Amino acid sequence: MKIYIDGKYYGREDARVSVFNHGLLYGDGVFEGIRIYNGKVFRLKEHIERLYQSAKAILLEIPVKKEEMKNAVLETVKINAKENGYIRLIVTRGEGSLGIDPAQCNAATIIIIVADIQLYPEEHYKNGIEIITASSRRIPPDSLDPRIKSLNYLNNIMAKLEARQAGCLEAVMLNREGFVSECTGDNIFILKNNELLTPAPYHGALDGITMRTVMEIAESLGIRTRETTLTRYDLYNADECFMTGTGAEIIPVIKADSRIIGDGMPGTITRSLTDRFKQYVLQRAF
Ligand code: PMP
Repeated sequence: MKIYIDGKYYGREDARVSVFNHGLLYGDGVFEGIRIYNGKVFRLKEHIERLYQSAKAILLEIPVKKEEMKNAVLETVKINAKENGYIRLIVTRGEGSLGIDPAQCNAATIIIIVADIQLYPEEHYKNGIEIITASSRRIPPDSLDPRIKSLNYLNNIMAKLEARQAGCLEAVMLNREGFVSECTGDNIFILKNNELLTPAPYHGALDGITMRTVMEIAESLGIRTRETTLTRYDLYNADECFMTGTGAEIIPVIKADSRIIGDGMPGTITRSLTDRFKQYVLQRAF
């Protein structure tokens, strides 16, 4: 494994950053999770765009241009000779003092890790997953916009712990108003009356790249899609439900808070979207 840090490559054991790095001290930074399918990087342009938009929103200056960043990602993938895998691209505020003030940090730190990922056991892709509603709410957009993919995941981690305590692997999070936002690391969709519905970013969801891809595929299959307001009632009474994310891809949800969704099996549309998604990522990789 060769890990990129600020233009140099290091082995796994030697890839280190300072304990004064504000990414560690304060979670001050942004990141992207990206897939490699058949040696090609999926939706790299979109991920780079989102990274720079997240950085802009937190006034974090990335010291390289987008094109250079793209090339660094492609080169790291090449050096690691990974045909299928996952890329973690991180930009932190960099090394500073022990105070919170970003002005004490001289330059951002850029890290690129190319690795494997398996977020959920294979059986859940086949049989679906059970989720609970977490009591930890999504941070409201006026405090931290959910479209910023920041290194601050503590409220999602709290929700993940709740899921674990309830014997589940995943939790859905509500926003401050009590509407469904997203899961701890994935967007959530329901199918109701042949329409595919997902909470909008202003409800507290990350503007997911997999979410957008799935909506595009659904539209091409003649399924109407809509970003809308959902409550837990909508989840419980959905015909089908699934989550989407770069790491998780598409994973069917068959139970929410002990309510069986649909007939308790991954739905027909979920299955066909999954099949099409698998073909799509192979054809459309960058
Ligand atoms: N929501 C959150 C909180 C996430 O961390 C992620 C990414 N793991 C997603 C949604 C899915 O986004 P994407 O499809 O762009 O990976």
